[in-house]
Amino acid sequence: MSATANCLECDAPVPVPQDAIKGEIVTCKECGTAFELALAGSDGAFTLLLAEQEEEDWGE
Ligand SMILES: [Zn+2]
Repeated sequence: MSATANCLECDAPVPVPQDAIKGEIVTCKECGTAFELALAGSDGAFTLLLAEQEEEDWGE
């Protein structure tokens, strides 16, 4: 049994690890968007929040 949450960008199922914790970052395999896990309610289910993406400068 594994939980998933739907990607906010492309609606693909994003796997949520059994031992995931609030604030953990998961990445959608379909579109590559990073999300932060947030608690959806008191039942321990997670919902996805768009992760703060720091614009990393790779030095070009
Ligand atoms: Zn996606």
